Amino acid sequence: MRKALMILSAVLLLSVSALAGGPGDRLFQVSVLPALLAGDYEGSLSAADLLSRGDFGLGTFQDLDGEMVVLDGVVWQVPSDGRVRRVAPGLGTPFAAVAFFESDREVVVARAESLADLERQVDAALPTRNHFYALRIDGRMTRLSARSVPRQAKPWRPLAEVVREQTRFTLDGQEGTLVGLRCPAFVSGVNVPGYHWHFLSADRAKGGHVLDCALENARVRVDELTGLELRLPTGAGFGALDISGDHSAATKAVEKTPGGKQ
Ligand code: ZN
Repeated sequence: MRKALMILSAVLLLSVSALAGGPGDRLFQVSVLPALLAGDYEGSLSAADLLSRGDFGLGTFQDLDGEMVVLDGVVWQVPSDGRVRRVAPGLGTPFAAVAFFESDREVVVARAESLADLERQVDAALPTRNHFYALRIDGRMTRLSARSVPRQAKPWRPLAEVVREQTRFTLDGQEGTLVGLRCPAFVSGVNVPGYHWHFLSADRAKGGHVLDCALENARVRVDELTGLELRLPTGAGFGALDISGDHSAATKAVEKTPGGKQ
């Protein structure tokens, strides 16, 4: 009997540790940021395959055709005309990062004046800055500025050049979800260090890559991720890229650029 109990407790311990650090507790990423910056917009993984690796995240599409929002197991596309659509399972992505979202902690942000203010408040709720985080924020955006990028034809140009032609959307007063990732500073050269936010409205009609926002009474759910699974493209385009340089200036330019048309 005692032996049986010991075996049972060992099994229980194993299942608890599987929950805390199991395969779902990681970020899955397609390609690396420098490849996207260099203009490799070749979809190397389908939306359906991406969903088998995570139900929450962000990225872009084949030919850089808009911003990707993955929310509740659905892949949404925000093209530069702003008309959000659910994507076909076969549509490829050149760059995306997803996780199976499981909230580890929850905080309420009573008020954030700007994206920088929001990020400071979320930072204060994180146990460490050296893990990855998937962040889900639901609420009303008192102010939100988002963008999308126009579909590209070959020969593909570097992303920093294309982003100058981005379309900006003013989505003040929208109810919806901020889908965010926070990567540690050491990830530079693989993904965006710090925060990266995409937005999808509650009616799934509007969204984009978030440039700035303000919000009130927002529910923030935090999923701490202790691993990174990287899937590199196997195509000739990726293989031939020279992405050996320093990418920090270009990364900053594509993430925060306020320009573009409205
Ligand atoms: Zn983005």
